[in-house]
Amino acid sequence: MAKIAVFTETQGDNVKSVTLEILGKLAGQTVDVISVGDISEAGLGDLAKYGAGNIHVIKGEGLDQYSPEGYSNALKEFLSSGGYDYVFAGSTSLGKDLFPRLSSMFGAGMASEVTNFVMDGDNFSGTRPLFAGKCLAKVEVTGPKPHFVTVRPNSLGLPESPTAGAGTKNDASSSAGEIRAAIKEIIKGASEKLDLTEANIIVSGGRAMKEEANFKILDEMADVIGATVGASRAAVDSGYAPHAMQVGQTGKTVSPSLYIACGISGAIQHLAGMRTSKVIVAINTDPDAPIFTKADYGIVGDLFQVVPIMTEEFKKLLG
Ligand SMILES: Cc1cc2nc3c(=O)[nH]c(=O)nc-3n(C[C@H](O)[C@H](O)[C@H](O)COP(=O)(O)OP(=O)(O)OC[C@H]3O[C@@H](n4cnc5c(N)ncnc54)[C@H](O)[C@@H]3O)c2cc1C
Repeated sequence: MAKIAVFTETQGDNVKSVTLEILGKLAGQTVDVISVGDISEAGLGDLAKYGAGNIHVIKGEGLDQYSPEGYSNALKEFLSSGGYDYVFAGSTSLGKDLFPRLSSMFGAGMASEVTNFVMDGDNFSGTRPLFAGKCLAKVEVTGPKPHFVTVRPNSLGLPESPTAGAGTKNDASSSAGEIRAAIKEIIKGASEKLDLTEANIIVSGGRAMKEEANFKILDEMADVIGATVGASRAAVDSGYAPHAMQVGQTGKTVSPSLYIACGISGAIQHLAGMRTSKVIVAINTDPDAPIFTKADYGIVGDLFQVVPIMTEEFKKLLG
């Protein structure tokens, strides 16, 4: 059986959901989890619940906060003696930064941003969207090991009945080595909400929002249903929203359970970033807007009337 490790990220006391999704998908395999930095008791409990065997917590000088060089040096040191066949991580901002660097340090292959995969004995086979999601490639990795894999958040889903693992915590030490680019300060964004790429529900606004202040109605709906707010490029270019909120080909790729597009036409470059959403709801005054060809539910109407009504109804439903 392949020897597998999953690199975990945390957010506050919680383990990021994509780590649990990967563990859930690997049920039946013996899987180690690797964390750089400590994990809360709640986080350890979640990892065990979803199947983690050994949980290696790596600590050392220079590893208090993320730096691409420090983390990759520490992980290279740890993984070199681990004999792993596959190392998985979420395709989060950090995963996208860290894993290509790590795979090149090992001279090993990588399957990036897969949306599904199977382990057939020792062999990994993944699915990866290409050309803005218009086709799906089957990817396998050959050559030196370990092979690295990143998985798009929200694409696998959490198993309803996870298979528990031992969840044994092992302290390990490693070193950040020489860090040539030091992070001096991390300035948190204004929003405490989940990053778009990890959000389970997204409410997005387009050019039709008309001005920044009008995003307030999307924020209100988002607060009620636990969503993160996104935007089209037209809204970002018009200065209504920051680029961090942009969904699409030149923005973020998202895969939430529910995507509510408000006043967004459905240009191919926008669809490229959200077409893998499980359920798409579109609100648009134009019944011929292309977004309706992709939407599961469409509301032809003025978003400034429809959104507040939906928010009130959600409030009643959700208390
Ligand atoms: C190389 C390249 C990369 C790009 N990358 C991205 C990207 O990453 N993300 C992205 O989004 N775009 C991207 N674009 C731009 C893309 O082509 C579109 O221009 C953009 O998505 C349009 O944004 P929109 O739907 O908000 O605006 P519009 O296309 O102007 O659509 C506005 C919609 O709002 C509707 N509307 C108007 N008033 C109301 C109302 N009161 N209530 C309800 N509906 C209303 C209209 O009917 C219309 O359908 C890219 C383009 C290029 C060339």
